[in-house]
Amino acid sequence: MPRVSKNKKEESVKMESIKKVSDKGDVAISVVIPLFNEEESIDLLSERLLKTMDALKKKYEVIFVDDGSGDKTPQMLRNLFEKRSDVVRVITFNGNYGQYVAILAGFEHVCGDIVVTLDADLQNPPEEIPNLLKKIDEGYDLVGGYRAKRQDSFFRTYASKIVNSIRAGVTGIEMKDHGCMLRAYKKFIIDEVVKTRETSTFITALAQKFAGNPIDIPVAHDERVAGGSKYNLYKLIRITFDLLTGFSLVPLQVFTIVGMIISSASGIYFFVELFKKVIGHHHGYGLHFAFLFLLLSVLILGVGLLGEYLGRAYFAVCEHPRFVIREILEKKD
Ligand code: UDP
Ligand code: MG
Repeated sequence: MPRVSKNKKEESVKMESIKKVSDKGDVAISVVIPLFNEEESIDLLSERLLKTMDALKKKYEVIFVDDGSGDKTPQMLRNLFEKRSDVVRVITFNGNYGQYVAILAGFEHVCGDIVVTLDADLQNPPEEIPNLLKKIDEGYDLVGGYRAKRQDSFFRTYASKIVNSIRAGVTGIEMKDHGCMLRAYKKFIIDEVVKTRETSTFITALAQKFAGNPIDIPVAHDERVAGGSKYNLYKLIRITFDLLTGFSLVPLQVFTIVGMIISSASGIYFFVELFKKVIGHHHGYGLHFAFLFLLLSVLILGVGLLGEYLGRAYFAVCEHPRFVIREILEKKD
């Protein structure tokens, strides 16, 4: 569930700032990077990224979104902004809202005709960005990177593979690797994503829905330069739930169908048992309990699923802000 702030005023301050910055007309490329406790990566990241972007000889901006880091990330971003305020903008959240929410906040502020997303940990090399841009020039409106040789832990790689195939099955959206953040979009797709005011965190899948001519290309994938993955099992389960319930009613429908099958089966089972009793067969109660537990578990799962949808409807109706921005650093024109 997205975090909720009671402070509506801060949301309106944020809306005003969106109006203000969207006047910056002639930016060609915007790069959006979410960061959560990435103090060990920032120096190398900014060095390699800005070098690559400078070499393109196009007007660009990099929007760093600090997702409530508790380490030196905010201070280091401030230093970077002071050094390169011609291209760097920094959005600082007042808490940790998650990688995808941070990217969404960046999307609300982009000015470029093309928007690129990238992780801060250098697992996807920034040097790949020109390859993505080349494909956009060829006429594709969305270029998705997929990690040809993924360099992550066994757990992280296989957990993602499972989430990827669930996503493909439930949403029917064709994309090779929704977890790879090295992607380039034409601005109109980002505008559509922002318009949805979606709380689901799967913006890559959401953007894919709006693209008319997408392509997937292989991109390099290295080990993290420093630190460990910012995802733990709980965060992975959360985003999988977001994915499942954010895109369709299929999980609810599956639940209804399973419910129907189980109740018909238990009806038949009941009559068989009744018949056995009538003709005088004796047996233990183990099977009965097993069956009862099965029914109960399906019921609890269903209640949980219903709760997810209800929660979504609740947040949509309340129009709670999805995130609260503490500070924006950007050059005043
Ligand atoms: N991240 C974030 N908020 C979070 C978790 C991660 O902004 O709550 C950022 C993180 O700093 C990195 C990117 O999202 O730039 C991807 O995170 P990570 O590398 O930990 O994910 P993985 O590579 O394991 O998928
Ligand atoms: Mg990573």
